[in-house]
Amino acid sequence: MKKIAKDQLALLWEKIDQNYQLFLPIAKEKAVNFSTWKEGAEVDLDALRTVNSPKNIIFPQTETYLTFKKEGKKLGLEVVSRDEEYVVFGVRPCDVASFKLLDNVFLGEPVDKFYEENRQKGLIISQACLNPEETCFCNAFAINPESAPVGADVATWDLGDLLLWEAQSEKGKAFTEALSDLLEDVSEDDRKKLDEVKAGIKDKLEDLPLVHVAPEKIEGGLKEIFASEVWDELYQRCLGCGMCTYVCPTCHCYDLKDYNGNGCGERFRCWDSCMFSDFTMMAHGNPRTTQKERVRQRFMHKLVYYPNNYESYACVGCGRCTERCPVRLDIVKVIKKLGGERNEL
Ligand code: SF4
Ligand code: SF4
Repeated sequence: MKKIAKDQLALLWEKIDQNYQLFLPIAKEKAVNFSTWKEGAEVDLDALRTVNSPKNIIFPQTETYLTFKKEGKKLGLEVVSRDEEYVVFGVRPCDVASFKLLDNVFLGEPVDKFYEENRQKGLIISQACLNPEETCFCNAFAINPESAPVGADVATWDLGDLLLWEAQSEKGKAFTEALSDLLEDVSEDDRKKLDEVKAGIKDKLEDLPLVHVAPEKIEGGLKEIFASEVWDELYQRCLGCGMCTYVCPTCHCYDLKDYNGNGCGERFRCWDSCMFSDFTMMAHGNPRTTQKERVRQRFMHKLVYYPNNYESYACVGCGRCTERCPVRLDIVKVIKKLGGERNEL
């Protein structure tokens, strides 16, 4: 295990930036989001949850696939590919876990080549959560906020003045080696302090209001849950704004569109939302014509359809929807309601 003094981090950013596109949680206009680093950027490693999840980096909100240009009677096509390797620093364990959920979809057959390339060019550095907040419930999905998450190339822990650093993958080891002039070995005291801090997290988690959310209490098969009367009440106040799907690190629906200019254009992918009335609109119309059907689709997908296919829920308990839904219709309420708990909506 290695360490670096926090007041040396600017040097670390500078060094990484020489060879990679570097993404960090950066404060802009009172919101913290993953953005590319440049000198003077207001890096905020204390922000527990960025407004948007880092999925935007591997599955961008809009991504051009190809450009086309008409030249006389010929049509020139150019496939766009990501040319730069990148590092994402400070990804929280819930967000690291969300990458695996996206991988299941995009790297299963048929492999999405654009997503695959984005994944291969990235190196993920996690940052443990040593101060989980009231809206966190990652442990309901077997995620340990204090640990090195599966899927991180390097794991880090912020101990105040120090950042502890541990390579997790071969890629992470090579990367760590390349930064060896800035990293030093940890002492026994540092390890002891880390163990104490980790032990303290378990007590903190017990005091958080959502830690006992239990998706496994949802009973019944697909048909029963689909037909449940619970949906008649749950959907009522949904505005169909799509905020929950946009901030969610595991939502992955998208649309493909063509932009036609004057003799040129591009084909691009952009996020879509199952909460929108024109989602999956086809020539014969829309398969879900009511907001009740759309709300049911979103939560059935996360809690029933996805687990039926990949044996895990499509939620990592990041708490973004609990924080951002303007009418407080979040997945915690849905899990409780489907699990037979009486809770106020
Ligand atoms: S459903 Fe809500 S809590 Fe779960 S991963 Fe998505 S935004 Fe986070
Ligand atoms: S559940 Fe909330 S955030 Fe999602 S579409 Fe409905 S109102 Fe918007």
